[in-house]
Amino acid sequence: MKELIRLIRDSNYLVALTGAGMSTESGLPDFRSQGGLWCGKDPNEIATPQAIGTDDFFEFYQMRIEDLLKFHPNIGHHVLAELEKEGILKAVLTQNIDGFHQQAGNRKVIEIHGHMRYLVCSRCGKEYPAVSYREGTYYCTDEHCKAPLRPPIVLFGEPLDSVAWPSAIQEVERADTVVVLGTSLQVYPFAGLVEIAHETGSKVMIINKSSTPLDYLAELVIHESIGKVLSEVEKSVLGSDRFQQLKERAGTAQKG
Ligand SMILES: [Zn+2]
Repeated sequence: MKELIRLIRDSNYLVALTGAGMSTESGLPDFRSQGGLWCGKDPNEIATPQAIGTDDFFEFYQMRIEDLLKFHPNIGHHVLAELEKEGILKAVLTQNIDGFHQQAGNRKVIEIHGHMRYLVCSRCGKEYPAVSYREGTYYCTDEHCKAPLRPPIVLFGEPLDSVAWPSAIQEVERADTVVVLGTSLQVYPFAGLVEIAHETGSKVMIINKSSTPLDYLAELVIHESIGKVLSEVEKSVLGSDRFQQLKERAGTAQKG
């Protein structure tokens, strides 16, 4: 812990890479990496471009969009937002599509796999509100289009966003310290960011419940809950009083 706090304090350009473990601490189910089934079906087959327009696709993403109203950012998200406000954390690069980092107050967030704040037409790209599925609008209302709606996320087999991905690489190259939070680093190209960080001379820290294939590149590896570890960082960087206020705010947000 002391080493982690020292590395964070000594950093000039700290970047966080976050994955599913960050969201599961909020209670959000993680379909992608648990190998879990949804209604007896494999979500990895639903999260593909081929499935767009099927009932499974609509129902699965309707549920995931509704989950975002049920769950909220956790203390780990709030600590990252505070670290950005303090000028310590420069950017969050995330695999998560839940938008919790922005909800917690982070401003510089690069969503490498997209988001579910709204839906888009899979053909013409017209934007629709996230509640469209729930309200029974599954297809583009433009008479000449009528293509199925989808969330602007990166499905399996789709290329990464042509703006988000290069800026993620840029941030990692700029960073002198990179903290990896809640990802098993098995999904490429996301995991490649850690390799880039290492190659460009950054100090890498990995905080994840289980070990990852890239642990050997890290200065420091902690197998522990993110909320617990970041709480310790925050207490030390901000002081106990301000941490207590933050915890209360996170508690209220989770209840609300
Ligand atoms: Zn359309």
